[in-house]
Amino acid sequence: MENCVFCKIVTGEIPSAKVYEDGEMLVFKDIEPKASVHLLCVPKEHFALLAELTPARTALVGRMLNVIASHAAAWGLSDGYRLVVNQGESAGQTVHHLHIHVLGGEKLGW
Ligand code: AMP
Ligand code: ZN
Repeated sequence: MENCVFCKIVTGEIPSAKVYEDGEMLVFKDIEPKASVHLLCVPKEHFALLAELTPARTALVGRMLNVIASHAAAWGLSDGYRLVVNQGESAGQTVHHLHIHVLGGEKLGW
């Protein structure tokens, strides 16, 4: 989608520090990390909200969780990690392209 920063990262128009990519998703380092390890997992298809899930997107989100779980140790998250999915302005969603924050690499507070 035009003017979507994560779509531009998916196409390579904006550079990112990728740690994983396949045909359906991308995982890259957050540019303003809130923890020692702070990654963002995004679908390559643009949609903003879980409220927009179709059966195919639901399956994709499941695969995103599976990729995160299976790569967590390689990403320095063997002691645990936190997933955050902000939904909407009040929750602090600033990029309106679905993304799963993956946070860890340290003892996390609230
Ligand atoms: P949210 O507040 O849930 O919408 O999170 C958006 C996240 O995207 C923030 O943590 C930003 O630091 C991150 N972000 C924005 N632009 C970029 C970028 N060009 N590369 C990597 N992360 C970004
Ligand atoms: Zn997008």
